[in-house]
This record gives sequence, C-alpha cells and structure tokens, in this order.
Amino acid sequence: MYDIAIIGAGVIGCSIAKELAEYDIKLAVLEQNIDVAMAATGANSGILHAGHDCETGTLMARFNVEGNLMFDQICQDLDVPYKRCGSLVLAFSQEEINKIEILKTRGINNGLKEIKIIKKDKIYKLESNINQGVIAALWTPTAGIINPYELNVALMEISKANGAEYLFQFCVDDIKIIHSDKEQYFEVFSSKGDKIKARSIINCAGVYADKIASLVGDNSFSITARRGEYIIFDRPSPVNRPVFQVPTKMGKGVLVSPTVDGNFFIGPSAQDIEDKSDKSVTLEGMRAIKAAAAKTMKDLPYNRQISIFSGLRAIPSVQDFVIGEAIPNFYNAAGICSPGLTGAPAIARYLCREICQKYGFKKKKSFVTKRQRIINFKSASNQQKVELIKKDKRYSNVICRCEVITEAEIAEAIRRGATTVDGVKRRTRATMGRCQGSFCMPKILEIMSKELNIKMQDITKFGGNSYIISSDIRGEGYDKKS
Ligand SMILES: Cc1cc2nc3c(=O)[nH]c(=O)nc-3n(C[C@H](O)[C@H](O)[C@H](O)COP(=O)(O)OP(=O)(O)OC[C@H]3O[C@@H](n4cnc5c(N)ncnc54)[C@H](O)[C@@H]3O)c2cc1C
Repeated sequence: MYDIAIIGAGVIGCSIAKELAEYDIKLAVLEQNIDVAMAATGANSGILHAGHDCETGTLMARFNVEGNLMFDQICQDLDVPYKRCGSLVLAFSQEEINKIEILKTRGINNGLKEIKIIKKDKIYKLESNINQGVIAALWTPTAGIINPYELNVALMEISKANGAEYLFQFCVDDIKIIHSDKEQYFEVFSSKGDKIKARSIINCAGVYADKIASLVGDNSFSITARRGEYIIFDRPSPVNRPVFQVPTKMGKGVLVSPTVDGNFFIGPSAQDIEDKSDKSVTLEGMRAIKAAAAKTMKDLPYNRQISIFSGLRAIPSVQDFVIGEAIPNFYNAAGICSPGLTGAPAIARYLCREICQKYGFKKKKSFVTKRQRIINFKSASNQQKVELIKKDKRYSNVICRCEVITEAEIAEAIRRGATTVDGVKRRTRATMGRCQGSFCMPKILEIMSKELNIKMQDITKFGGNSYIISSDIRGEGYDKKS
C-alpha cells in the first residue's frame, strides 16, 4: 500500500514528488506515458514569468510570484540551466501603453518589486533587433527562461533518488474508494488491468485532471485543451529575452523568445480544441503566429527554421488553478495552465505542507538534496575534454554533430532511464539541432540497441507505436558478422 499516489508525471506531479520524497512515506507516481515531460511540460514557452499577468488574489498570481523566486535555489540544487534575463511587453500605441500600465499596477499588487515602464532608448538598448515603432515597454528583470523538460527530468531523478517509485505506462482508468474496518483507501486501476492501493491520491493529470477527479465524484470543474503552436529556429537568437506583445483574452499572445540553449522561437498560438490528444501543427496556426510575430520583428530568418510543435494548455472552467482536497484524502493540482511551470515549486511546497501536516508525516533522517546533470562535452574546457576522453573513450565519439553530443552522453541518458529516442533527446539534446536527427538517428538507435540489449526495430521515438524501423530489409536472421 502506498501512502500517496500522484497521478501524472509532468512538472506539477514531479515537483510534488520531489517535496514528498523527503518524507518517510511510500510514494508512487503513475504516468500513462513512457517518460516524464511528454505533455504540456514538454511543449511550452519555458518562461519563468515575473507575475504581472494573473488577476490579483488568485492562486495563479500567488504561486506565479512565489514560484518564480524559488528557481535560483532549485536550479542550483538540481543543476538545471536557467537565465534570469528579464522580459519585455511591447507597446506600439497609446492604447497599448494604457494596457501595460494596467499590467504594471497588477504586478505591483501581486507583489512584484522590480517592474517598470521603460521608454524607446532603453528598449532598443536591450533589444536592438525588434521593429521600429515601439514607444514603451513593461520591463520585469525577474522573469527568466528555463528548459522545462530538463527540469522535469531532474525532478524525477531527485525524487527517485529519495525513494519515489515511477510507474510508467500506467494509464489510470478507474479509482475505487474502499472503506475497510481499519481505514479508507483507494484502489487505482490502469487501462491494462494493473492495480495499486494508496491511502491518498494527488491528481496532477494535466488536460485529463477533470476526468480523474470525476472518477471519485468530484465534478466541480472541467478542463478545455487550448493548443499553442510554435516555430523553433536555429541559433543565434535575435532577442536576448522573451519579448511579448500586450495580452489578449486568449492569453499572453505570441512572443519571440530565446531558449536557454541559445535557439529561439515564435509562438504560441491559442486555439480551443475538442480532442485533448490533438497536438497537430496546422497551416492556420503557423500563419497566425508568423503574422503576429511580424509585429515584433519583421525579418525573421525563416531559412533557419528547424522545427514546429504544439502543446496543450489545461484551461480550467473555474478561471483559477484547482488546488486542494476535493474529497477526503483526494487532492487536486488541476487546471494548471500558464504560469504553471513557474508556479510548480510553490504549488508543490504548499500542497506538501498541507498533506504532511494533516497526516503527521515526518522528514527522513537523511535524503538527497543535490542532483547533477549529464556532463555536456561541448561546453567543457579543452582540459576537461582531454580528461573526459581519458576516462571514457566514448566521449571522443561525436554522434549528434549539430549539437556535439557524444556516445558517452547518450549512454548516460540511457543509464538514467531514457528508453526512447525522445527520452535521449530530452536528456542530451541529441537530434535537436538543425538536421533534427537525419544524420545521427541510426547511430543513436545502434547505441540504444546495445545499451538496452534490444533490437533496433523495437525502439520507438516516444513509446506506443512510434517505431522508427519497420523491418530489417536483409531479412530475419541476418548476421552482421557473416
Ligand atoms: C503552449 C503552452 C505554453 C506555456 N508557456 C508557459 C510558460 O512560458 N511559463 C509557464 O510558467 N507555464 C507555461 N505553460 C504552462 C505549463 O506548461 C503548465 O502549467 C505545466 O506544464 C503543467 O504541468 P502539469 O504537470 O500539470 O501537466 P502536464 O505536463 O500536462 O502533465 C500531466 C501528466 O499527466 C499524465 N496523465 C494524464 N492522464 C493520465 C492518466 N489517466 N493516467 C496517468 N497519467 C495521466 C499525462 O500523461 C502527463 O504526463 C504553457 C503551457 C502551454 C501548453
């Protein structure tokens, strides 16, 4: 019997797992996918919002501002790269100046200390490549950028190091509330018929959190999936920080932003969709973000466009995050749309305190507080590179040429739990460069086949039926050596 089962291994579920794993409890994280960060957390803007967008007094505003401030410590402890580069919201007209004035007042009311409106000279000093015609901008130096999937992986790794168990490909299908003589607990069933028991459940199921809540009779909210589409470009970035336009009723609007890895993107679009699994990228979506981004920057280098993708926001019907105990021992961390990435550590701290106080959980005598990321050969000094190659020859074998990722890094990602090509990608950046894996994919498959001791045909891109190789054209039983 688990003390707590968390449903969903996105940034919210894994942030909560990190906090709870420091306590002396038996903890499980149930995830329908094959890895972490395969839903909203793996496909968003990666911005640590300062906190001027959310209505004052909401949980969104509170956790945005509190969460933002926690990232210096978290990124230091988990060795996750981030940049506090600030952000700008541009105003091109008097009407838009009025709107950024409102954002400024809201930011101050939400608790932001550093927020101001700056004029043309300062704006173009910060961002020389944006279009002429900007007359003012909202400047928040505490905003930042982070790699959201690397954060998600790091949260899983540290919580695992402290004893949390991750059950992947466990799609929660049904929950039964059991009242025995001694206690009340839950039986949680997967779509494949597996069952676990848990005294408490925390629902962090993203766009499906309303469905999970309804399994225990909580129909107090529903969730709409709002798709956001992106275009990502190769380095270098023409902007140094996220550059927003004034928000619309559908969200924060289309932005131009660098990533922590030096690429840049435009997006996201905002379209409510019926099918919560529809992560397609559409011609209309691409046209919409290109047209909107042109207002910020005219001559975007589309010859350096390297990929397109989309993510689904979980928009709650109640206009705020749904956080807390819904029925005895069943907690929601639901409807966590933007700024949920920024708010994740604060949401986790809040829920963990509430739960641990209620059940009297005590901290373990000792637990792991630091995690180290996979060594990045490319950013090592020449001396370090020599040492690394001396220690492990596989560092001299560059597999992904665009991103300069070596065999040793890929092998380490597999050792740490990557079982798919996207799992390797999220942990190392292999295949994320200009060629998008055209050159290195076969080599990655070979390494995965060797390290995991499985056939190349059995390796998938992201689980399910996403096989990469359909069959061996030389026929079954072909022996390489003969
Ligand atoms: C386009 C876009 C842009 C965004 N930009 C930003 C930003 O710049 N800054 C910011 O702070 N926030 C941003 N956000 C919001 C942020 O991405 C989310 O708030 C955050 O990722 C939510 O995390 P989560 O763990 O709740 O959800 P998810 O990451 O979606 O994770 C939910 C998990 O639950 C699993 N699950 C669902 N149903 C089941 C089931 N039945 N059984 C088992 N597992 C299940 C899913 O597979 C998934 O892994 C953006 C979101 C989007 C989509």
